[in-house]
Amino acid sequence: MTKWFDPSGVVNLCFIIVLVISTVLTWREVAVLEDAYVASQRNALENVSNDLDRQMQVSIDRLLFFRHGMEAALQTPLAFEVLRNVQGKFARQRSLPYWQIVLDNRRTLPLNGVADYFVEQSPLLSRDDTRLQNEMTAALELGYLFRLSATTVMRPRQSWYVSRAGFFLTTQPVGKMEVIPNEYYQLLARPWFIQQRERENKQRGVRWFTDQARKAADSDSVVMASVPLDYESYWYGVLAMSFPVSAIRQVLIEARQSEKDGEYQLYDSQWSLLATTMITSVDRIHTFTPEDRKALNQAMSSDTAGGMSMGTRFISWEKLQHFDGVMLRIHTLREGLQSDFGTISISLSLLWVLFTGMLLMAWGVIRRMVTNMYRLQHDLQWQAWHDPLTRLSNRGALFDRAKALSDECARRQQAFSVIQIDLDHFKRINDRYGHQAGDLVLSHAARLIGNSIREPEIAGRVGGEEFCVLLPGSNLEEAVRIAERIRSRISSKEILVQKSQTIRVSASLGVSSALETGNYDFQNLQYVADSRLYLAKRAGRNQVRSTDDEQPEPSI
Ligand code: GH3
Ligand code: MG
Ligand code: MG
Repeated sequence: MTKWFDPSGVVNLCFIIVLVISTVLTWREVAVLEDAYVASQRNALENVSNDLDRQMQVSIDRLLFFRHGMEAALQTPLAFEVLRNVQGKFARQRSLPYWQIVLDNRRTLPLNGVADYFVEQSPLLSRDDTRLQNEMTAALELGYLFRLSATTVMRPRQSWYVSRAGFFLTTQPVGKMEVIPNEYYQLLARPWFIQQRERENKQRGVRWFTDQARKAADSDSVVMASVPLDYESYWYGVLAMSFPVSAIRQVLIEARQSEKDGEYQLYDSQWSLLATTMITSVDRIHTFTPEDRKALNQAMSSDTAGGMSMGTRFISWEKLQHFDGVMLRIHTLREGLQSDFGTISISLSLLWVLFTGMLLMAWGVIRRMVTNMYRLQHDLQWQAWHDPLTRLSNRGALFDRAKALSDECARRQQAFSVIQIDLDHFKRINDRYGHQAGDLVLSHAARLIGNSIREPEIAGRVGGEEFCVLLPGSNLEEAVRIAERIRSRISSKEILVQKSQTIRVSASLGVSSALETGNYDFQNLQYVADSRLYLAKRAGRNQVRSTDDEQPEPSI
């Protein structure tokens, strides 16, 4: 019998392949979309960062311009009479606890100074007369330049020159003269001054400082830019400017233009929030946990710009070139979903869900169809080879098998026996109890016959109430034993044919074996067995016959 391979396995495989391919393709699309989203976020951030960076650069350039001006003035000092008068004024006042030198024409800023004694007290300070003269005239020239501060977006709030020689100059009036020593003292202690010492700023470039003491995002807080002034390897002092954070915030708000979503935040190097574009409510400003900051720091350690997801937020970041800090753009999932990328992603996901749903449905239907077809084919095949009433092989199938088995046994010179079985007086059962009872007896007898043999032995129904058993490997003696077993089982069983009506049946059996004559031809063997069966009938039924003479069978 042909073994059919299960086609539902192929169906499953095909559907799984389609499912995997569609999922991979969708996933790829989503990945491309995600990349585009990340790029768009970074692009938006870059625009704003660049704008801010440009403003920062303008500020740095101005500070460097001032330093350059002072260096030039130190190199070739002006020799005006007014400036020379300054020396006289200084000489008269230098030992006073505080002093101020104001030029008459008021085009420059006053110099505010402290006593020689004050300078001598501090190891940081030094009043070297040979240098001092030029430094003071240069500072007065700087005061003139300070007054020309151009009107840009990031206009400095206040500018300073703080000398190490015990004086300073600033764009905002000091008020009472008595406060000068204290003011000077405080300026010396500020990080933007003290951290410009040679060993702390080896490059001698511009450095940024934020006022840590003040509250973040406070509109009054400032960021400071300062640069040391050195000439001929001598550190004279520090030039500094303060910028209100509100101005930086203004730059951010203007730089984002018509963009509505996302929040921009500017942090200094210590992770203090300096400015944000969130203006509606302070509570809604995005904040970061120490773990978030750790993750960001880690990402920032190797790159100048990047982006990463943090829970439901996407954070893009970029370090500024002209400011010691980082710009962040924070985009929430909600904002993301409302954007074009979100809409496309949702549509894509819905499409995938729809497709997958349809695919699964089709899979179910086709699988069921294929399984049914497979079962039907199986049933038809079984019916072609079997007798439906007794479930034994039918005549055609048995003859086919018999030929194949007898040929094989002949080739191997093995024993091969045949038993022919015919139920006794079966017609009477039909007549007395009806056809249905007859069928019952038939299936009963068939079951007893089937249970009496083992693979590869085969039993089949070859006529109305006639059966044939093929016994490859059994000689006549063994076959008679099996036949006797069948006979005794049939005759000993009571069969319930009707309500409270049991009957007994018997069968006559004829046995033949190929080893008797060496003839393996099945038709001949069956003929011999059949003739012996006839002898059994004649001898009184309910017996086994394995010889051709009329004598009763010797008992085994
Ligand atoms: P004997 O002992 O000589 O074999 O007597 P018998 O009555 O068994 O012999 P006979 O060949 O005359 O009768 C066989 C009967 O089996 C005839 C037929 O009605 C009955 N028969 C054949 N096939 C079926 C079947 O499928 N179902 C039923 N109920 N009866 C069947
Ligand atoms: Mg018969
Ligand atoms: Mg019969």
